[in-house]
Amino acid sequence: MSLTKVIEVLEAAYPPARAESWDAVGLVCGDPVQEVRRVLFAVDPVAAVAEEALEWRADLIVTHHPLYLRGTTSVAATTPKGRLIHTLIKNDISLYTAHTNADVANPGVSDALARAVGLVGDLVPLQPFPDDPWRGLGRIGELPSAMTLGDFAAQASKGLPRTSWGIRVAGDLDRPVSRVAVSGGAGDSLLGTAKAAEVDVFLTADLRHHPASEFVESGGPALIDAAHWATEWPWLDSAASILHSSGVTVETRVSATVTDAWTKGY
Ligand SMILES: [Zn+2]
Repeated sequence: MSLTKVIEVLEAAYPPARAESWDAVGLVCGDPVQEVRRVLFAVDPVAAVAEEALEWRADLIVTHHPLYLRGTTSVAATTPKGRLIHTLIKNDISLYTAHTNADVANPGVSDALARAVGLVGDLVPLQPFPDDPWRGLGRIGELPSAMTLGDFAAQASKGLPRTSWGIRVAGDLDRPVSRVAVSGGAGDSLLGTAKAAEVDVFLTADLRHHPASEFVESGGPALIDAAHWATEWPWLDSAASILHSSGVTVETRVSATVTDAWTKGY
């Protein structure tokens, strides 16, 4: 299967035009005419993932996070990113990114997160596009029945891949929760939207002390702060399934390498 064909399938599911203007999505390195037999899906384009791709003899890595977001004038192997580019090109491995265009897709990053933490039924965007109510950032869904915040946190923790610090909860652990908002990755820009949506709890990542403290003090939903990598990892499987269901004949693998920035909690 040519890389061009694989990219066509990915871009039908994750149209690049839907990416944020500051984002950098699409093919980072690789020749479109290259044959692709094995595709590795990972959250981060980092050295450990490149090594995994080498060992498994992947032809293509699809990551959620971009390698370069800002203008660069050198890919010399004198920086970690330049070294990564060298490793990939020397070994005929292409790199492709679907980032904010995967966040807002349907199904996208937050759909996979919502299912991983146990939400059922229809999922609607927390912040829908004005022109498309079924696409947008975050998702709102329901638990099958109300449970305490503490029990939901334990369930969410089990549903997400293990990281060094697990998850943190802000709010009364005995509070009943059933209507839940989730957003993969750093979701603090959606705090106000989650409050306006009158959900019982908002699960995201990378929350900071002051916004979180003020949010809970103001009587907003409870908060669950998970590891950034863990909230986006469930999407990898869904992206791999999109390739398979399109009839593209490639082997896929989801990287289980934990590339969250935090390697240990004490
Ligand atoms: Zn992210």
